[in-house]
Amino acid sequence: MYSQLTKNEKIIKLAKIGNSWVDTLDSFELISPIDGRVIGLIADCGPKEALQAIDASEEAFELWKATSVDTRYQILSHWARLIVEEKNQLAEIMALEMGKPIKEGKKEVDYAASFVWWYAEEAKRIYGVTIPAPVPSKRIVVLYEPVGPVLAITPWNFPAAMVTRKAASAIAAGCTIIIKPAERSPLTATFLASLWDKAGGPPGVLQVLPTANPERLCKVFFDDFRIRKISFTGSIPVGKAIYKEAAKTLKGVLLELGGNAPMIVFADADIDTAIREAIQAKFRNAGQACVAVNRLYVEKKISEPFCSKLVEETKKLVLGDPFLPSTDIGPLVGEQSLQKIHSLLADVLEKGGKILCGGESQGLYFAPTIVWVSDPSARILNEEIFGPVLPVIHFETEREVISWSNATNYGLASYVMTSDLKRAFRLSESLRFGIVGINDGRPSCCQAPFGGIKESGIGREGGQWGIKEFLETKYLSFNLD
Ligand code: NAD
Repeated sequence: MYSQLTKNEKIIKLAKIGNSWVDTLDSFELISPIDGRVIGLIADCGPKEALQAIDASEEAFELWKATSVDTRYQILSHWARLIVEEKNQLAEIMALEMGKPIKEGKKEVDYAASFVWWYAEEAKRIYGVTIPAPVPSKRIVVLYEPVGPVLAITPWNFPAAMVTRKAASAIAAGCTIIIKPAERSPLTATFLASLWDKAGGPPGVLQVLPTANPERLCKVFFDDFRIRKISFTGSIPVGKAIYKEAAKTLKGVLLELGGNAPMIVFADADIDTAIREAIQAKFRNAGQACVAVNRLYVEKKISEPFCSKLVEETKKLVLGDPFLPSTDIGPLVGEQSLQKIHSLLADVLEKGGKILCGGESQGLYFAPTIVWVSDPSARILNEEIFGPVLPVIHFETEREVISWSNATNYGLASYVMTSDLKRAFRLSESLRFGIVGINDGRPSCCQAPFGGIKESGIGREGGQWGIKEFLETKYLSFNLD
């Protein structure tokens, strides 16, 4: 099907329900941010398809939870191999549907596959425990069992990795999973599901239901008792709404929400490292990442030379067609993102800010921008930007910068650039965020726990923590009297 994947043809994509690729009565148009062209007609799933998927998920769960961990390992590792083999195709799909530059898309595919490899192995390590009992005639055994059918709701900004990070851990735990991909990135999710089929994944274990109306579709999942866990990645308002919905049938929730990451650069930092990491952490995916640096605090005594080097390096980034191998930054995903960035910039300029480079846009293509901020109340420091704009402000004391950094309801990622070991420890213990990168602008990897505190979320994905989200603790008490 994806041999049609050129920039000039339309793709027709179906939903993956049970064992079949299902055509729906309705469909919706998928528009590429590259040039505004309609690139696909996508199945628009509704309540009928939702119920079919829950039935299939429940039926498959009974079989899948009973599979040996070796079977899970074999199928998951086969899936990982196929994902890597299809790296180019997946990178092209992402470029087409949400504008990610090809060279970055290939890195995302490796990152996406790394979760599948990791959880193929982690399935083997769902260890239970035995505990000495309070009386000689008893034995205490604790087991871990899969929670049941899972609903995963994924965002468009990492269309491959957000699917595999959820699916691989749930499937390794013995759960079945229904994926509702973002409206802007259904092709990546359905392509991954086709690779799951190819890897020998049993029917009903992984299903994909695209929709243009997530509220209508997901209401059926939220109301159905059989779905036992919701794993959601997306914005804070939608995460809060889901949390409320989940309460109706007391489903477990895993919420990976937005961020407002500070990066603090101390005068004692290695400046070249700080600039390299700041650029990676800000401009990757055109700044459309939950862990993107949202505000850069630089110590006053180095702020001038730091900013001029930062501007010099930022100007080297290539903005353009995501299909070109030289492109670093592609288009924003949509008009709404563009409007938000313009409005944040207008606000900061009104409050005495100054654009040091960039600031202009053509269509959805927004130039990488550095903006100097003089008023800490500027909205740009307090809201998630989700675009290629980096606000910079100076600070004078460690104490004040810690307090500014923590003065937010967000708590996902934060970054500290310093060569002072004592300071690195002090800062990593003072920053109220789920992740602290020390001289590291790209801390996320399959081995580590990824997630936020405060309004940035509940729970963790990745490493040994990700699989536990999909396991229930069961206690067996044997009375041998
Ligand atoms: P979004 O909240 O608008 O959408 C996320 C998903 O939720 C999409 O699949 C969407 O269709 C679905 N959705 C929207 N309304 C819904 C409803 N009423 N019921 C059920 N589903 C609904 O977010 P987005 O714009 O796609 O993604 C950007 C946001 O995601 C940013 O805030 C970003 O920080 C966050 N994000 C967080 C992480 C993380 O791991 N913490 C990773 C990537 C993105």
